[in-house]
This record gives sequence, structure tokens and C-alpha cells, in this order.
Amino acid sequence: MKITSSEYSVSAVREDQYPQDDFPEIALAGRSNVGKSSLINSFLNRKNLARTSSQPGKTQTLNFYKVNDSFYLVDVPGYGYAKVSKSQREKFGEMIQDYLETRADLKGLILLIDARHEPTADDISMYNYALMLDLPILVVTTKMDKLKKSQYNKVYANLKKHMDLNHEQVQVLTYSSETKLHLDELSAWISDKVE
Ligand code: GDP
Repeated sequence: MKITSSEYSVSAVREDQYPQDDFPEIALAGRSNVGKSSLINSFLNRKNLARTSSQPGKTQTLNFYKVNDSFYLVDVPGYGYAKVSKSQREKFGEMIQDYLETRADLKGLILLIDARHEPTADDISMYNYALMLDLPILVVTTKMDKLKKSQYNKVYANLKKHMDLNHEQVQVLTYSSETKLHLDELSAWISDKVE
């Protein structure tokens, strides 16, 4: 897919703030600092459209980015905050669930997991939840450039230990925003879902 335009569109915490133009949407989720903003920027070939920040958990809204005037990437707030209260966490949870469960325009979920670590309990819950919702899921392991080739096998093993990847709706992709490893495959998956 050739990216011809990309723009920040809107931030939303509830349904009446979501975009109204009925374009298909792809949501991206993952724990804070997993590399979500970097993936969005690398996919869109933008330096700083989605904010990369060293302060995890700052984004507390659903952020919609309009791409090619035809679909949205939806940046779902990173889970696993250290610094917010339990009641705030519960609110984020509700906001995310409302969106994922009710949004007819939602065509798939990209779940980002740090390639260097085993999936967290939050990653596993999000994965099982998306499975249950019957969403197409692309599991993306991020920061692959930080691994040695000899560690690549371990990445799949770590996922398989905690997640049943054997579903038609699920695909797995190793990725690096630094080297753009598998950018074409990421792009192909998104194209397929938003067409
Ligand atoms: P977010 O909180 O999930 O949006 O994560 P960010 O995109 O802000 O990334 C968190 C940190 O990881 C930043 O310091 C990024 O530069 C770094 N990072 C993200 N993706 C990659 C990657 O593919 N390779 C490397 N080496 N670093 C990355």
C-alpha cells in the first residue's frame, strides 16, 4: 500500500467523539513503551505524527489517524500504567472495551508485544478478549533489531507458551520500526483488512 496522506484526526474517550465518516478502522494495542507510536510513524513514514514518548502511559485517549483519506489507525492507550490510580485504570478499561465491542467500523486489531519479553498478563488478556470478539488479530513482536538472529526462535516460543496462535483469525509478524523489518507484510495485512 502506498501511503499518500496521513493526519491526526481526533482523540476520543466515548462514542459520540469517534469519527463519523464510517471509514474502516484498525486498532493498535499494547503495553506502554512497546513501540506503538514508533510502529505507526514507521508505517506512515512520518517522523513524529504519533508521539513517541519516554513517559509511559501518557496517552489516555483513543487517537484516530486518518490514512489515505480512506481508513483510520486507532491508537489505543497503552495498558500497564505504573502511575495512574486503580479507578483511572478501570475507566481506560471501560473505554477500550466500549470501543472494541461496539465499533462496527473496526476491522482488525494489531497487538504489539515486545520481542525481548514474554507477553504480560495484560497482553494475554487483550489477546484472548480480541479472540472472543472474533476480531482479525495481527500479533506484532516489536524491536526485533534489538535481538540477535539466534534469539529469533525464542520470540515465537515465548508467544506460544502463553497464547494459542492456532486460529484462522490470527497472524504473527516480527517487526522493527528502526529497520522497517516486515513493513511490507504489515502494510499488506492492513490493506487486506481495510479494503
Ligand atoms: P509506545 O509507548 O508504545 O508508543 O512506544 P514508543 O513508540 O514511544 O517507543 C518506546 C521506546 O522504544 C522509544 O524509546 C523508542 O525509540 C523505542 N523503540 C520503539 N520501537 C523500536 C524499534 O523497533 N527498535 C528499537 N531499537 N527501539 C524502538
